[in-house]
Amino acid sequence: MPAKQLAQMIKESDNIVFFGGAGVSTESGVKDYRSKDGIYNTEKDFGVPPERILSRSFFAENPEVFYDFYRKYFMSDVKPNSAHKALAKLEEMGKLRAVITQNVDNLHFAAGSKNVIELHGNTREFYCNSCKADMPYADAMNAITNGGVPRCVHCAGAVRPRVVMYEEKLHEGVPELAMGYIANADMLIVGGASLLVNPAASFIRFFGGKHFVIINKQETPYDYRAELIVRENIGELLERTMGEYGRL
Ligand SMILES: [Zn+2]
Repeated sequence: MPAKQLAQMIKESDNIVFFGGAGVSTESGVKDYRSKDGIYNTEKDFGVPPERILSRSFFAENPEVFYDFYRKYFMSDVKPNSAHKALAKLEEMGKLRAVITQNVDNLHFAAGSKNVIELHGNTREFYCNSCKADMPYADAMNAITNGGVPRCVHCAGAVRPRVVMYEEKLHEGVPELAMGYIANADMLIVGGASLLVNPAASFIRFFGGKHFVIINKQETPYDYRAELIVRENIGELLERTMGEYGRL
């Protein structure tokens, strides 16, 4: 039984790192523009694929379209699921050291996690694409929910969320931080991630600890290295695992 196996590994570990992808959020109902439906609908509605809309050069020319897309995919009213909650609990128990996520939806913090490394930035902070001045979150959201583009009070430039767009590098210091946690971990749990998107996926190679677990519905390029592979919903699995852990 994978939940029992996983619980046993957690018991033996005290420096666990979780690396999560889109699958962690989709179980909360976050829409995945990278899914077949998401890509298809984006091409149908906007005439271009999501990777183009979420790129640096596209934003500079078409902030209106960017925010139409943003309203559709980044503003659903979602709550943390069992996976987010279990990870927050493991951190509180002193078992888990860091959550490294490719998601920008804030759900790990909402669940109570403290040490969250957001590889692709976040949607809590906004700044001007021209003069780089910060804009308070409430002001940016006000403009976005009213159907427009938030505009800088200093230069009227288009204001953007602090997410990493296509054609951009990860934020300074973030890759090193993530790799450091992975390199020092005694257990690595990958969840809801295809591990196809580099450079983030390549960080997995730095793991040299004891237990390597992959929880993902599809195969990943790193499956051959995993001690345990589980093709189930990560929320349900981690919930059962926490139950099994309590019985050890
Ligand atoms: Zn500005």
